[in-house]
Amino acid sequence: MSVLIFLDQADGNIKKNSLEAASYGAKVAEGLNTSAFGIVLGNVKDDLPSLGKYGLKKIFTSGDEALNNFDDQVFTVAIAEAAKNADAKVIIFSNNFNGKAIAPRLSVRLKAGLVTGAVALPDTANGFITKKSVFSGKAFANVSIKTDVKIISLNPNAYKIAEGEGTAEVETLNLQLPEPKVNIKAVNKVTGEIPLSEAELVVSGGRGLKGPENWNIVTDLAKALGAATSCSRPVSDSDWRPHHEHVGQTGLTIAPNLYFAIGISGAIQHLAGVNRSKTIVVINKDPEAPFFKAADYGIVGDAFEVVPKITEAVKKLKGIS
Ligand SMILES: Cc1cc2nc3c(=O)[nH]c(=O)nc-3n(C[C@H](O)[C@H](O)[C@H](O)COP(=O)(O)OP(=O)(O)OC[C@H]3O[C@@H](n4cnc5c(N)ncnc54)[C@H](O)[C@@H]3O)c2cc1C
Repeated sequence: MSVLIFLDQADGNIKKNSLEAASYGAKVAEGLNTSAFGIVLGNVKDDLPSLGKYGLKKIFTSGDEALNNFDDQVFTVAIAEAAKNADAKVIIFSNNFNGKAIAPRLSVRLKAGLVTGAVALPDTANGFITKKSVFSGKAFANVSIKTDVKIISLNPNAYKIAEGEGTAEVETLNLQLPEPKVNIKAVNKVTGEIPLSEAELVVSGGRGLKGPENWNIVTDLAKALGAATSCSRPVSDSDWRPHHEHVGQTGLTIAPNLYFAIGISGAIQHLAGVNRSKTIVVINKDPEAPFFKAADYGIVGDAFEVVPKITEAVKKLKGIS
């Protein structure tokens, strides 16, 4: 048996969240006295043997052109075949967009129990019990997976990347893939921005900023810090900011090292997407704003006065003019 980890990539580079999943999977394999393998689909620029430093013994790959664009149904079949080939009893994903699309499909296909949003290593000494966050991050549940094949999707930033020594063997699979049901005609990517799901620093704005014309105070601070930008749901619903910046229960879940919340009230649905951030700084003119309860640092004040001063201080500290 083995542990198989899906290594998601963007523009040929393995995503940081997948390296967390690889490190996590290697530790699960160690606990089960077995080996961890990775699977990478589509064109990859990264050096595959060097992924051995994350504890992976082998990397499965495929030269099939059908895998060059992300298609969750085709990827599910490819991973199911690799899992059979590797006799994988535990399959691990990052609980990111692609992981969320594939893991449930694979679970049905392999009749495998699935735990989504894992936050810790499974307890393999007493069955197979995995801790996951529930109720929008308000509580944890310990879930036992009883099926022969088990699938886990790991919350981004819940497990630290562990680098060691080692080189992985690379095996190219000859996969029997289905015809894609959709044809991707063009992919238009946002360029020049720090991807929100991978960002260590995030500056976020809410309805307190009054309108899109004031967003420069958010983007100026983000630029000075080298941070990504995000927003609350009403902001993206009003088209002040693009939908891919919306964080919360119905948007992205992020866990950066630093999260700046500017003019955001701190509704539970917003907190659900950001409350795993390591340090939260809240700037709000209402001292009773619920976000202050979740804040590590709080400034009661008008964002239009406070934020430019912080931006200036950051620039001065960094020597940016
Ligand atoms: C099913 C469901 C799902 C939802 N999912 C999400 C989600 O994923 N993400 C999300 O964000 N929301 C979500 N919501 C909406 C959520 O309940 C809140 O309505 C929303 O988060 C509020 O956004 P806000 O804080 O930007 O705006 P508001 O609630 O209007 O708060 C604005 C804040 O700005 C402050 N402020 C005003 N002027 C200034 C100033 N000059 N300086 C400083 N502070 C100022 C105010 O004191 C206030 O606290 C969801 C709601 C439902 C029902």
